[in-house]
Amino acid sequence: MGKIDVKNCPACGSSNNIKVFTATDYLVSGELFEIMECKDCSLRFTSPIPDNNEICNYYKSDDYISHTGKGNSIINKIYKIVQYFTLRSKQKKVEKFSQKKSGLILDIGCGTGNFLKIMKQSGWEINGVEINDTARGIARNNTGSVILNQIEFFESHQKYDVITLWHSLEHLLDLQKYLDKISISLNANGVLIIAVPNYYSYDAEFYKQNWAAYDVPRHLYHFSYAAVVELLETFKFKLLRSQQLPFDPFYVSLLSELSVRQKYNIIKALWIGWKSYRQGRKDAKRGSSILYVFKKNQ
Ligand SMILES: [Zn+2]
Repeated sequence: MGKIDVKNCPACGSSNNIKVFTATDYLVSGELFEIMECKDCSLRFTSPIPDNNEICNYYKSDDYISHTGKGNSIINKIYKIVQYFTLRSKQKKVEKFSQKKSGLILDIGCGTGNFLKIMKQSGWEINGVEINDTARGIARNNTGSVILNQIEFFESHQKYDVITLWHSLEHLLDLQKYLDKISISLNANGVLIIAVPNYYSYDAEFYKQNWAAYDVPRHLYHFSYAAVVELLETFKFKLLRSQQLPFDPFYVSLLSELSVRQKYNIIKALWIGWKSYRQGRKDAKRGSSILYVFKKNQ
C-alpha cells in the first residue's frame, strides 16, 4: 500500500528519463509530485503515483464533477453548459469517424454515463467501463445499460464497433494491459477514439507546472502527439486522423488560472486559451487536447 516510484517510462519502458518540474495536487491533497519526461518516446509521467489501494483517496473532491455530476462553482456551471455541446459534438464525431449511425460502443472511463446516454438515445447499443464505484452506480441508473468495473472488463469477451476514451487514458493504472484488451475488444473494422491533453500546447507551455491538465496524481501520463502515436503503434493501431478539441484550451486555461489563486485573472485565461486555440487550429499537434482516431492495422 502507498505510493509507487515510477522508474521506467510507462509507455516504452525506457529508463532514459529526466525530471521536468514538480507539480502540486491543487484539487485534493496539496501534495507534490514530479513530472518526468521520457527522452525516447517523449511521454511525460507522474512519479510517484498512488497504488490501487490509495488512488481513490485522490478523487474525493466535490469539484470532481466528471465523476459525481455535482458541484456549484462558476467553473462547474460553465463546464455543464459546455458539456451539453460537447456531448452532441462527440456523438457526431463518433458517427462520422465510424461511418455508422448505430452499433455497439464501449466508453472506457464513462463517469456518470452522460455521453453513453446520448448515444443510446441516438440508437446505439452501449457498454461502459468505470472504476469509481459511485460513478458506476450513477451510470447504471442513468443509462439502464451494462457498466463494467475493471475486472469485469478484463474478463469480458464482447467485441465493439467503437471504443472511446474521452480524457480517461491518462488515468489508467494498467496502461499496457488496457491497450492490449482494447485491441482484442475492437472489431476488425472498428474505430478507437482517444482524447487526451497535450503538454506540447501553448497553454501547457505558458502555465508550466500550474497547467491544470497535469492534474497530478490523477493524471498518471501526460501525452504529446508523438507519444500517443508511438504508443498506439506498438499495439498495432494506425492513426486515421487527429484534431484539437476546441473548448479545452479555454477551460484548461481558466482552471490553470484558478490554481494560482492570488494571481487569478479571467481575461488573461481567455487570452491564453484563444492563443492556444489558434495554434491548435493551424496544427493539431499543438492543440490543448487532441482527439485521435485509430483503426487496427490489418
Ligand atoms: Zn518512453
